[in-house]
Amino acid sequence: MTAQTSATAPAKDVPVIEIRDLHKSYGPLEVLKGVDLVAPRGNVISLIGSSGSGKSTLLRCCNLLEDSQQGDILFEGEAVHWKGSGLHRHPADKAQVLRIRTNLSMVFQQFNLWSHMTILQNVMEAPLTVLKRDPAEVEAKAREYLAKVGIVEKCDAWPAQLSGGQQQRAAIARALCMEPRALLFDEPTSALDPELEQEVVKVIKALADEGRTMIIVTHDMKLAADVSDHTIFLHKGLIEEEGPPDQLFGNPQSERLRGFLSATM
Ligand code: ADP
Ligand code: MG
Repeated sequence: MTAQTSATAPAKDVPVIEIRDLHKSYGPLEVLKGVDLVAPRGNVISLIGSSGSGKSTLLRCCNLLEDSQQGDILFEGEAVHWKGSGLHRHPADKAQVLRIRTNLSMVFQQFNLWSHMTILQNVMEAPLTVLKRDPAEVEAKAREYLAKVGIVEKCDAWPAQLSGGQQQRAAIARALCMEPRALLFDEPTSALDPELEQEVVKVIKALADEGRTMIIVTHDMKLAADVSDHTIFLHKGLIEEEGPPDQLFGNPQSERLRGFLSATM
């Protein structure tokens, strides 16, 4: 099975990702209790909230790494087809899952590079094996994206030979090499020392300036305030407050958000 990235871009006003009334449980534990999220093309959405509020779960539901029990997920206007219901609900169409997952590339807190592959091989792996792209073309793209994140000279190094900041930049190049419709970041700077954090923040800001569609889970309120078009504050599986970052950070309405911000900023 080959994942298709559709050749023609859909109408500009169709969001890349749209989530409606999403509910997600792990067994008896309801983690998302009816969440809506819209990521218009070219927008950066940041997700903030306390540990355990459901941020990672929401991100993983977006690209179908996790099943969900109720609600709709649309990728470029195309609704995910489900079979079963409740805890037995799963996506019905494997080709659709692959198409969505390959178009929503995830960058994880712990980088998750393959330790037995060089940096170049890491970046080339999925376009070669999942998308079955031409090796020479993929290598050229991989070098281009590694140059973009500033580590093309590390092509032949092993992940263990890189600093955390370099590994995370390699992971971003790997996500970019899939040429996805959107990038999903789950706390991309949380595992890094402050000085290394900044080199990753710089890359994320450059991607935002390019007009890429991104959803960023972050504990870094400055990053969220700087790059986002829209910020969502999640509390115990529900959206407690959302809006433009100026408003959320400058004039938070909910007591919980005020408490969260005073504890984190
Ligand atoms: P956040 O990313 O905001 O810290 P998570 O989405 O990781 O929160 O987790 C939300 C809740 O779901 C937490 O109570 C967590 O313990 C629980 N949870 C997360 N993943 C699993 C899992 N695989 N199995 C059971 N519970 C989980
Ligand atoms: Mg998390």
